[in-house]
Amino acid sequence: MSDFDKSLHREIEHQRKGEVRFDSYSKVLYSTDASIYQIEPIGVIIPRHKHDVLATVKLAARYRLPVLPRGGGTSLSGQTVGHAIHLDFSKYLNQIVEFNLEEGYVRVEPGVVQDELNAYLRPRGFLLGPDTASSSRATLGGMIGNNSAGAHSILYGKTIDHVLGMNVILSNGEEAALGPLSDETLANRLEGDGLENRVYRAVQALVEENRNEIQRRYPKLMRRVSGYNLDEFIKDQPFDLSRMVVGSEGTLAIVTEAKLKIMPRPKFTALEVVHFRSLVEAVESSREILACGPAAMELLDKMILDLGRHSLEYSRRMDFIQGDPGGLMLVEFYGDSRAEVEFKIEAMERRLRHHHLGYAYTRALEPAEQLNIWKVRKGSQGLLLSVLGDKKPIAFVEDPAVPVEKLPEFLRRFQKLLAAYDTVGGYYGHASVGCVHIRPLIDLKQASEVEKIRRISDEVCSLVIEFGGSMSGEHGDGLARSHHNERLFGPVLYKAFQRVKAVFDPQNILNPGKVVNAPGMTENLRYGSKYQAAEIRTHYDFSHQGGFARAVEMCSGIGVCRKTLEGTMCPSYMATRDEEHSTRGRANALRAALSGSLPLEDLTSKRMYQVLDLCLECKGCKGECPSNVDMAKIKYEFLVHYYEKHGVPLRARLFAHLETLNRWGSRMAPVSNWILRNPLAKQLLKTTIGITPQRDFPPFARPNLLDWFHSHTPPSSSGRQVVLFNDCFMTYNYPEVGRAATELLERLGFEVVLVPKTCCGRPMISKGLVTEARRCAARNVEVLKPYVDRGVPTVGCEPSCLLTLRDEYLDLLKGDAPQNLAKQSFLIEEFLDHLPEPGNFQLKSQQTGRKLLLHSHCHQK
Ligand SMILES: Cc1cc2nc3c(=O)[nH]c(=O)nc-3n(C[C@H](O)[C@H](O)[C@H](O)COP(=O)(O)OP(=O)(O)OC[C@H]3O[C@@H](n4cnc5c(N)ncnc54)[C@H](O)[C@@H]3O)c2cc1C
Ligand code: SF4
Repeated sequence: MSDFDKSLHREIEHQRKGEVRFDSYSKVLYSTDASIYQIEPIGVIIPRHKHDVLATVKLAARYRLPVLPRGGGTSLSGQTVGHAIHLDFSKYLNQIVEFNLEEGYVRVEPGVVQDELNAYLRPRGFLLGPDTASSSRATLGGMIGNNSAGAHSILYGKTIDHVLGMNVILSNGEEAALGPLSDETLANRLEGDGLENRVYRAVQALVEENRNEIQRRYPKLMRRVSGYNLDEFIKDQPFDLSRMVVGSEGTLAIVTEAKLKIMPRPKFTALEVVHFRSLVEAVESSREILACGPAAMELLDKMILDLGRHSLEYSRRMDFIQGDPGGLMLVEFYGDSRAEVEFKIEAMERRLRHHHLGYAYTRALEPAEQLNIWKVRKGSQGLLLSVLGDKKPIAFVEDPAVPVEKLPEFLRRFQKLLAAYDTVGGYYGHASVGCVHIRPLIDLKQASEVEKIRRISDEVCSLVIEFGGSMSGEHGDGLARSHHNERLFGPVLYKAFQRVKAVFDPQNILNPGKVVNAPGMTENLRYGSKYQAAEIRTHYDFSHQGGFARAVEMCSGIGVCRKTLEGTMCPSYMATRDEEHSTRGRANALRAALSGSLPLEDLTSKRMYQVLDLCLECKGCKGECPSNVDMAKIKYEFLVHYYEKHGVPLRARLFAHLETLNRWGSRMAPVSNWILRNPLAKQLLKTTIGITPQRDFPPFARPNLLDWFHSHTPPSSSGRQVVLFNDCFMTYNYPEVGRAATELLERLGFEVVLVPKTCCGRPMISKGLVTEARRCAARNVEVLKPYVDRGVPTVGCEPSCLLTLRDEYLDLLKGDAPQNLAKQSFLIEEFLDHLPEPGNFQLKSQQTGRKLLLHSHCHQK
C-alpha cells in the first residue's frame, strides 16, 4: 500500500462503519467483472449504510478521486472496471425497504438481487418486469446503471420503464431525490445554486438546444441503451431527472434507494421450443411468431447447444431438444388459463407449419419443464465461455440491437463480416426485439487478434448505423463501446453527452471513462499480447484444461457463483456474501498471482490460503458453473503446494488419516467414545486442532462391519458378484449401513464381496496430502482390478468416497485400470436403479401423507 493509500485508508476507516479494504488482494478481486477488461481499483469500500456512501463521495470529491459504484459486477463491457474507489453495494445494502400493494411499487436498496426481489414478490402475486439472464446475482443498482432488460422486454420494456423515482448522491456529496416533477416543482428545482439545481438547468437547456438532433439521431428502437437518455426529455411526460441517471453506468450519480413499479405475475405460462435447421431460418420466422403475440421469443444457436451437451449441469437439462438443430427459438405465451396458453401455442404451431418454418416443436406446459428450458437459455453466455483453449467467444460486439424486421439481413451481414476476419461467433438473445448477442471467437493473447477486435468493432458499428440500430441493446457501453458513441449519435449529440457529464460531475470522479471520454477499447484488457501466466508443475492432471493456469482462467467472471437462492454453488459465498469467498473471487486471486498482478510467491502465501480456506471442496462449481470452473480440484492442487512450503499442520494430518483413527477408535470402543464425549478432551481438541466442543463425534462401533460381515452367513446367491466399497464410516462408525446394504444386495441374489481395500484417499486429497492419496488410489485400483476385469461392479454408499473412484482417481493415476474402475463404480441407488432385472426386489411404500425430503450429498449434484 502506498503512503497515500495508507492515509486515505485511515481517513476513510475513521469516517464509516462499512468495510474498508485497501489490501492488494481486495484490489485484484475487484479489478475485473464479466468483461474482457481489468484495472486495479484504488481500494474497496463495502458500505453498511448510506452514510458510508456519502462520506466516501465527499472524501473522493475533496481528493478528486474516482468512485465506482458496483452491484454484482456482472457487467459485460467493463463498466465496473476502473482505477477508482469501488463501492460494493451487494453485501449489506440489499434490503427491500417497502412493498406497496395498493400502488404497485417497491422501494429497494441498490444491492437487492433481482431474483431475491422476485422471490419476495412471487407469493404476493407480483414480479419485476425486466428479467436479465443474470438475474440470480445482478442487483437493482446494476440494472438501473445499465438500464437492463431481458427476455420479456417485448412486454415490459427496459428498467427505465419501471423506475418511479430514486434517491441519489451527486458527485459533490449532495443528496437528491429524483422523480417525475410537476411544472411547479420543476420551476423550484431550476432555481438555486446547488449542484442539483445546476443540473436541472443545464439538462433543460441542452434538450432545448438539441431537440431536432435528438429526434433525428437517436435510433428508432426500444432496445437502445448506448449513450445518455436525452431522448427521454423530448417525450410527452413530466420532467424526470432519474431517467437520465438510468443507464448512465454510475457516471452521473450514485443511487442509494430506488422506487420501482412492479407487475402482476401472469397466471399461466407455456413455452414452445421451435427447432430450425439454421440460425437464419430461425430469425426469419420472427415475423410469423411475433404475429401470435408471444411474451418472449429467444434465440439459441448451435454452438451453444453443442457446448451444453458437454456441460455436466446443462447436458442433463437438454432432453427437450429434438435432433440436431442449427437454431432454436424459445417462445413463451402468457394467459389467464391453461386452455388459453395452449390455444396460443397451437395457433402458432399451425401457422409455422403452414409456412414450413421449423422442423420440430417441443411444448412445455408444466412450470418445472419451463424452468429447465429457461435455465438453458439463461446459461447460454456461460456455456459459450466454457470453450477450452485460448480462443474464447468474447464480449465486445455482443449486444447490437436493430429494428426486428431487419434482423435476418443484419445477421447474414454479421456472419459475413466475421467470416472475413476468419472467425465465427456464438449467437443467442432477444430476437423478439432485435437484440442479439454475438460473441466472436478470439484469442486475446495474440497481438494480431487484439487488433482484429478493434477492426471488427469498427465495422460492426458501421453496420449498426446502416441498419438504424444501437451498439448496445441492454449490456451498456462500458470500456468496450463508449468510444463508438460519437459515431453512433454524431458530434453534436456527443458534445451534449459530454456536457451532461460535465454538469453532473464537474471533477470527473464518477466512474470516469464510460459513456463519454473513453480510453481506447483495446487498452486495459484482462488478457492481451503481454499477458503471461506461469505454468506450475501440478500433482493432479490438468491436461484436459490445458494446465493449471488455464483451469483458473476458465473463470470468465459472469458470477453465477454469487447466486444465493438455489443449487449448491457456492456455499461460502451464500454464507458470507463476500466476493472473496466466491468461486470467481478465488479464481481471480489465483490468476493474479499466476499472471503477475500479485507476486508469484503469493501463490502459496497465507493470504491466498485465506482466500481458498472457506472453499468446502463441495464441487458445486464443477457441476453448476457454466464455464466449468472446478475450484475443488484447483484447491486440492493449491493445498499441496501450500503445505510443501509451510509444512502440514497436525489438524490436516489427523483429518487426512481418518481411516486409521476410526480403526483404532473402533478397536478401543467404548473407551474411545467416552474419551471423545469428555469435556476435557473436547477442550483439548479445541485448543490443539480447532474442533469446536459443540461438535459431537460419530461414535465408534464394536463389533465393526468387518467383524459382522465375516461372521454372517450369506444366503445362496445366483453367482453374480458385487463388490461393496466399505468406506471407513460404514466400517467403523455406522456398520448398520453396510449391513443393510449387504443384506439388500444379497436379497437381490448377489454375492457381496469385501476386498482388502484401503481408505479411498478423499480425506488426504481434501487436506493436500497428494502422495498418500495417490498411494491409496493405486492400492484400491489394484485390489479391485481383478473384479473390474471380470465385469464385477463396485458399489458404495458414501458418495464422497465412491465418487473419488470415478473422479479424482482419473486425475491421480494414469492408464486404463482407473478408467475401467470409474466406469464400473456406482452409488448403491444408481446401481439399484439400473438393475436390468429387479428380481425379487420390491420397494413397498405406504401412503402416510407425509413429505419425504431427500438431502443428497454435494458431490452427487
Ligand atoms: C451471463 C450474463 C447474462 C446477462 N444477461 C443480461 C440480460 O439479459 N439483460 C441485461 O440487460 N444485461 C445482462 N447482463 C449484463 C448485466 O448482468 C446486467 O446489466 C445487470 O443488470 C448488471 O447488474 P450488476 O448488479 O451486476 O451490476 P454491475 O455490473 O455491478 O454494475 C452495472 C453498472 O451499474 C452501475 N451501478 C451499480 N450500482 C450502482 C448504484 N448504486 N448507483 C449508480 N450506478 C450503479 C455500475 O457502476 C455499472 O456501471 C448479463 C450478464 C451476464 C454475465
Ligand atoms: S467447490 Fe463448492 S465451496 Fe468451493 S468454490 Fe466451488 S462451489 Fe464454492
